Amino acid sequence: MAFRAAIRKSTLLRGFTSRAVDGFPGAVGNTPLILLKGLSEKTGSKIYGKAEFQNPGGSVKDRAALGVIEDAEASGRLKPGGTVVEDTAGNTGIGLAHVCRAKGYRCVIYMPNTQSQEKIDLLRMLGADVRPVPAVAYEHPANYNHQARDYAATLANAVWTDQFDNTANARAHYASTGPEIWAQREGAVDGFVCATGTGGTLAGVGRYLKEASDGRAQVWLADPPGSVLYSYIESGGKLKERRGVGSITEGIGQGRITDNLGTFVDAVDGALHIADTKSVAMVYDLLDTEGLYLGASSALNVVAAYELALKLGPGKSIVTILCDGAYRYQSRLFSKTWLREKGLEDAIPEHLKKYAVL
Ligand code: PMP
Repeated sequence: MAFRAAIRKSTLLRGFTSRAVDGFPGAVGNTPLILLKGLSEKTGSKIYGKAEFQNPGGSVKDRAALGVIEDAEASGRLKPGGTVVEDTAGNTGIGLAHVCRAKGYRCVIYMPNTQSQEKIDLLRMLGADVRPVPAVAYEHPANYNHQARDYAATLANAVWTDQFDNTANARAHYASTGPEIWAQREGAVDGFVCATGTGGTLAGVGRYLKEASDGRAQVWLADPPGSVLYSYIESGGKLKERRGVGSITEGIGQGRITDNLGTFVDAVDGALHIADTKSVAMVYDLLDTEGLYLGASSALNVVAAYELALKLGPGKSIVTILCDGAYRYQSRLFSKTWLREKGLEDAIPEHLKKYAVL
């Protein structure tokens, strides 16, 4: 009887709707929308994070990876036994490597040779052919982007998936992440905000929410230091020279208007500039108050959602993206030495310093 009672009392089955899915591709998406209680209470609004870290490859980029591969298949550019080539140093490569294994494609990843050994090892464990190349500027022909494009062009059955300018990336979010958020909130979305790498998430989700809400949902961009999109939006469309400021938030911070963003950037309602000190403190705060172990871009997004909630006033519903977990960055984010080197030690409130155990 105790077992029967356990079912009645359990919160674990609440909202359980999904059926069995078909392989890795079938498991991408349909992530939960998590109410962030502490910040919601503080602002008098409801702040939600879309749990993209629950995708089977561990990040929001699984959707884009599947989107660009399915698009290449549908257009006939990629046929069985073909090769997928991409320039990426992170989550997109991981997503592509997973999808390629599941679908039987060869996966070739070009990345700057400045990337961590962990990332190279992980991609190789996932079966990718990883090609570290010298880290030279985009203008240089030997830049990893151009090398990936040029290599793909030498093969017969191969695609360069081109995550920055291939709009199949944003379309994957328009077709899945956006509708999921809208359905999960039953149409109650007043604001959406997230940072951009390729811009696929912001443009795809933003466009869907704008259309579904007849323009009522506000869509904001969040920028880390060193990115130029904040000033682009605030100045009404002037692209500044990228300043040489680095940020701790890996995977985001863009120096140009990509094609994924270009189709949507003029519809963005505003931009928020979030300092690393706030993002890193939020990594620790989310762990302490919500039990969520998230990377720095997720934390930056949550700070932005909090600031947007304050701007829009109480009683609203604000949604952001929890892009990936902290596991891929923990040797940095939870290391006292790293925090000191980055000048971020004082950004962590005293009562949260106990989490810096490395
Ligand atoms: N966060 C992380 C950790 C990422 O890897 C990325 C993609 N590089 C993003 C956010 C941004 O997503 P998008 O490319 O859709 O703008």
